[in-house]
Amino acid sequence: MDMRVFDLFKIGVGPSSSHTVGPMLAARRFLLECQRLAEVKRVQVDLYGSLALTGVGHATDKAVLLGLLGETPRDVIPETMDDKIADIIASGKMCLLGEYPIAFDIMDDLLWHKQETLPAHPNGMKFTATRRDGSISSQIYYSTGGGFIQSAEEIGHEPLVAPVIKPYPFSSMAELLAHGERSSLSIAAMMRANEAVHEGEAELNVGLDAIWHVMRHCIDTGLKEEGILPGGLQVKRRAAKLWRAAKETVAALPHDPIHKVSIYAMAVNEVNAAGGRVVTAPTNGAAGIIPAVLRYYAKDCEQLNSEQGVRNFLLVASAVGMLCKKNASISGAEIGCQGEVGVACAMAAAGLTAALGGSNQQIEAAAEIGIEHHLGMTCDPIGGLVQIPCIERNGMGAVKAITAASLALHSDGLHHVSLDQVIETMRATGFDMQAKYKETSLGGLAVHVITVNHAAC
Ligand code: SF4
Repeated sequence: MDMRVFDLFKIGVGPSSSHTVGPMLAARRFLLECQRLAEVKRVQVDLYGSLALTGVGHATDKAVLLGLLGETPRDVIPETMDDKIADIIASGKMCLLGEYPIAFDIMDDLLWHKQETLPAHPNGMKFTATRRDGSISSQIYYSTGGGFIQSAEEIGHEPLVAPVIKPYPFSSMAELLAHGERSSLSIAAMMRANEAVHEGEAELNVGLDAIWHVMRHCIDTGLKEEGILPGGLQVKRRAAKLWRAAKETVAALPHDPIHKVSIYAMAVNEVNAAGGRVVTAPTNGAAGIIPAVLRYYAKDCEQLNSEQGVRNFLLVASAVGMLCKKNASISGAEIGCQGEVGVACAMAAAGLTAALGGSNQQIEAAAEIGIEHHLGMTCDPIGGLVQIPCIERNGMGAVKAITAASLALHSDGLHHVSLDQVIETMRATGFDMQAKYKETSLGGLAVHVITVNHAAC
């Protein structure tokens, strides 16, 4: 499998990896690959399927415009985004990649096709550039979850570049466990060896520490910010108030330490819902679970934590995320929320088990438990916003991840259902799920709670 830890953990902006991060990257990539860009006089963007149905709430329109300006999710300054968009709308102009001015009318040049889905994936988009001589360049891209994008030619095919040979290649957990048996290495050590074909140990550690730094910062921001989240649902940010109360009544109830974990997760997802800086883990909608459980490990598991434990957590979590991405999906538009919150829960459970010294078998058990109890979970965000049920759902997912790790750590690692079997079950369940439950806001909570915003969608 040619994925890396940093493919699963990407620094970006909210509120959605598939509907914000992916489209921003696709828009920029289209222009970077477009011939004779200086001669382009018009760019048209067509959004299809789930991108069209929930794109307003997920800020897909803003993401596409920022991508056309040349911005990237990693480097764009969240506080400047709204001004840049307002400027395009007010002036009717934009500078492609910051250099080539064209006229751009958001009503005529950005089109939403809510009744139409492109063939390869629910999150499809088409970019068309017209030059002054009338010639046209056009390309379809798919946003396949977690900020991954593929062109129409790439999707469903192995990359043309020769794969990097890794010492412990794996396409299933069974293969990874077998490598572990033969080498007597932990999953974290094998992941580290696989990453070493890309960069040295010191660089890898710097990258992992940077991911943890952004996650920590995101939690801290969310624990301070108050007010109403954007989008029109009038959802109040709750994490800061809950955090103040939790600090004042330390361990008033036996389960209060666990209560804090759900607050950490909600803090991250409130930052995400507000379009702030987050790490996809493995998606933005599920971005709160891994930081929350990691903070629980790094702050609340005193005597048991270490800097290297944090890194091992991320490496092992990424192994589980890679398997889910390869053998099922991490896209809510493809298999529902089981593929986002369920996968994040499994990743966090595996990471925590590893960091607390669990065996490879216990890590597998923890990940399996994490997914098993999210099987069938639909994606039905109210008003097309990544707020309800997403924010609280991350709090629940984080707590479940700790429970899964505990069950695994207190077991001998033997269990009836393997991780590979539960991933295949998630894939099959997701593909059987009706489209209205897959990030379309046409079913579930999204239609049983009537909102102003939903009516506008
Ligand atoms: S319901 Fe789950 S999959 Fe859907 S947008 Fe929210 S977090 Fe993502």
